[in-house]
Amino acid sequence: MCAQELVLKQRTQILHALCSSGSAEYLERVLDILLAQGELMWEDYQNIQVTGRELYTKARQLLDLVYTKGVDTCKLFLATLRQVLPEEQGLGLSFPGCLFNLNGKDEHKSISAQTLLTGRPILVSKLQGCIDDALKALVTSGHFTSADCNEVQLPVYTPSQQARRLLDHVRSKGESAVNVLLQYIQQKQELGLPLNQEKNSLPKEFVRYQKKLSSSLSAQSCFLSTYGGTSHMPLDDIYTEGQLELAHDCVDFHGPLGLEDIVGMVGTTNEEADTVLVSGEAGSGKSTLLQRLHLLWARGVVLQNFLLLFPFSCRGLNSEHRELSVQELLFQHCCWPDREQEEIFQFIQDHPHLVLFTFDGLDELKQSFSDEHRLCCPTQRAPIHILLFNLIQGSLMKGVRKLVISRPEVVGPVLKKCLRKEVLLKGFSPSGINCFVRKHHNDPTVAAKVLASLQTNTALLGLCHSPVLCWIVSQCHKELLGCGEGSPQTITDVYLMILQHFLQHQSSTTIGFGWLQEHQETVRHLGQLAFERIGATCYIFSDADLETCGVTEKDICLGFLIQSKGMSSAHSKHYEFLHVTLQCFFAALYIVLSKNINRSVIQKLFELKDMRKIGKRGIWFTACWPSSEKQELVLEGETTAAETPNLHITATFVSGLLSRRHQSMWIPCCQSSVLEKKSRQVWRCLSKGMQKHFKSIPQPVEGEKKSMHAMPGFVWLVKCIYEMQESRIAKDAMSKLDVDHLKLSYCNIGPVECTALAYVLQHLRSPVGLQLDNNSVGDVGVEQLLPCLHICNSLYLRNNNISDEGICKLIAKGIQCENFRKIALFNNKLTDACTQHFSHLLKTKQDFLSLRLGNNNITAQGAKQLAEGLKVNHSLQFLGLWGNKIGDTGAEALAKALESSKTLVWLSLVGNGVGSVGACALANIIKNNTSLEELWLTENCITRAGVECLIEALEHNTRVKSIWLRNNDLSLEEVEEMTRLEPRLIF
Ligand code: ADP
Repeated sequence: MCAQELVLKQRTQILHALCSSGSAEYLERVLDILLAQGELMWEDYQNIQVTGRELYTKARQLLDLVYTKGVDTCKLFLATLRQVLPEEQGLGLSFPGCLFNLNGKDEHKSISAQTLLTGRPILVSKLQGCIDDALKALVTSGHFTSADCNEVQLPVYTPSQQARRLLDHVRSKGESAVNVLLQYIQQKQELGLPLNQEKNSLPKEFVRYQKKLSSSLSAQSCFLSTYGGTSHMPLDDIYTEGQLELAHDCVDFHGPLGLEDIVGMVGTTNEEADTVLVSGEAGSGKSTLLQRLHLLWARGVVLQNFLLLFPFSCRGLNSEHRELSVQELLFQHCCWPDREQEEIFQFIQDHPHLVLFTFDGLDELKQSFSDEHRLCCPTQRAPIHILLFNLIQGSLMKGVRKLVISRPEVVGPVLKKCLRKEVLLKGFSPSGINCFVRKHHNDPTVAAKVLASLQTNTALLGLCHSPVLCWIVSQCHKELLGCGEGSPQTITDVYLMILQHFLQHQSSTTIGFGWLQEHQETVRHLGQLAFERIGATCYIFSDADLETCGVTEKDICLGFLIQSKGMSSAHSKHYEFLHVTLQCFFAALYIVLSKNINRSVIQKLFELKDMRKIGKRGIWFTACWPSSEKQELVLEGETTAAETPNLHITATFVSGLLSRRHQSMWIPCCQSSVLEKKSRQVWRCLSKGMQKHFKSIPQPVEGEKKSMHAMPGFVWLVKCIYEMQESRIAKDAMSKLDVDHLKLSYCNIGPVECTALAYVLQHLRSPVGLQLDNNSVGDVGVEQLLPCLHICNSLYLRNNNISDEGICKLIAKGIQCENFRKIALFNNKLTDACTQHFSHLLKTKQDFLSLRLGNNNITAQGAKQLAEGLKVNHSLQFLGLWGNKIGDTGAEALAKALESSKTLVWLSLVGNGVGSVGACALANIIKNNTSLEELWLTENCITRAGVECLIEALEHNTRVKSIWLRNNDLSLEEVEEMTRLEPRLIF
């Protein structure tokens, strides 16, 4: 197929790959290269990049242009896409025969405006990070005013966008401005300095120290640490981008965050603060992300505004018992300056904006964050946690940027107050899973088999959004592919698979559960180590700790424990579990297998107490510990927030391990009566926990529905019940829930949680409205929810990253569900491709009441499809299409379909590019229809002629209460006149 045909045939996929992220970065990079190659003229570029134009529209225009320019341009365009799109975005696109050498022309340089075009991709990357200096040069030479600078440096722009705006601006100022900019770049290069560093004035010793720091950071971060115990996996080979999002809505920024954006300006909520927080669940890839940042900084690829980057691990800092000053903390824990310590530290203090501190695992610090002890002198010594807290909240080393990584549970209001912004790490996207599995397996046929097997088990696919589980699944591909029917469904199943995988490497038996029996002592010893230390927030173990629990050299060799980086010396070694979730898993195994476990342990484990409120660290576990350890804990008596999430994970595993389907596995290692007792106890705890939730539901105000907002811990209990895989437990739990509306907005619900929710909620006794707004359900999650769709009368999935694919499956099931009457899908990724399904739903379900599709990408085409369904539907009351792009043609089609509706009460076409032609068509609904009460047409481009049609129609209609027309194309006088004529029009 020729390149031109390929562009045409793959149009939808290309648009999706370029725009679905919502960020303009890919499109802009493509434009840079096409300009540089001379395939686009400057005028072409300007015609596409019209301010305020939708990203999709720009991309469509580019595709049209490329197509009309012929085969060669199409070839080059495809080659450019291949270069620009990250691997997973480009999956599914075909680029045969498109191996143009894109670099060839970049070499060409001449000191003229043409250079700005031919060298554009290089110049964009070079200018990032030194925009300030370049602007200064242009202001000094009189080419730029401060207004020009402000325009270039608008905070909504990413660094690369600022660089592009700078280039465009310079070009518009003429040849002489271009020369100043090119000279600036040339001078910097001749000095042999990276453009973005103020290095010409750096002291020699400082530069030497900087090199030492970056080479040690590079060495520490180039392998993926958790592979340390088993195999060495270069981070470059396996690193797969995770999904990063801003925690707070940011009007000017939609789309994925890049690594630079984490500490960059975008999404900043408090400019005074220095600390950026990245939060994510255990195993979501936080440490790996930080490791990637460290590696790329050390290589000079990202964050080059910072001359020094000091990495800290809170896990490691737990074992620092001395009091230290900031200077000692930096030099002793990160990198020791061989000479001139004082001068180097002075330089750091004088240039705080050039320094970045990173703190991995704040959740693992023994002490909870507090701002009680203030400290501002960097030479004053203090306990480590006090230093840390003062650094984070900015009393110490003000101006130094700090990047803190933590699990969300421990981020309380005191810490939130000190944050510059919060970024959420949400694990892998579906294409990320694909990409990771392909990277993990050198053999593409194995990768394809693993992926195919995941497609047949969507519960497992859901789990793979968590990178640590995706890693286990990939690592255990042999077990996975060999297990057929019994393929893993729950998190416990996945961890049992890795247990089997590691143990069988050392095992002589492979039949039945022999592998477990053979290694039961090892499992007990590791379990004891995990269990005893997890309650004490201890993740690093000395040789002596291992010995106390009977862990031998042979046990270590199995691979569950790895040596702690930077903590081990020639005399003493320190270990940690491969991942904290494995420590939780072994702790759970110990609880299940051990005879000595006190009854109260399981009970306390499931109590929904916030551990922060208990005050004394580890207090709940002391009941079953030897008295010496008990004393130690009571003596220490510190507060921690770190326990709760780990204990929740441990409890989830205990539920899974004690489920009936796994009990036969433990019989050779412990008495079945004991197991049965423990299992019943877990069941009772879960049931009690649920009831506690239900009791908290307030009685509804008269006339309102009974509604339950999920309290912290509700989703966790649901997940524990799912792990048990016993429908009678789910049934029992739901038998006592009596609500009309279940609200789970902002509950961090992804595909895994959806699986568990559907498993439990399907047993509800009467239908509910299920509100899951503002989570990360996605297409996989939607599919997981299907088993409970029959019990949902309304489903609210606003802002959940759902695309047409998910909708197709949802509707296929929804049509068969009697109760299903309302759906809200505001702000997802829907296009015209989903409207045929809604049309089918409207045709088939003559009791469907409400369809809300606001803020998606539906055009006139989609509206026409919807109209087909609306024409024959006799039940719909609410139709919301706010913020789509249906235009006049779409409005006409809808109007025609709704003219004779006897049920529609509310219609919103706000912000849809509807003009007077559309308004006149909609006037026909008002003329003929007898049910409509409210029509929303705010933010369109309706003129006087359109409003006159509406007024005329209203003369014959008494039912309509209001038509909203704010922000249309009307003058003040027209608004006044029309309000007088028809008070039901609201301007
Ligand atoms: P967290 O710090 O959130 O608990 P980790 O970063 O330790 O999670 O990730 C756990 C494991 O998941 C890693 O050891 C690695 O195997 C895998 N992993 C996480 N993130 C990525 C990534 N971006 N690319 C490849 N593998 C990853």
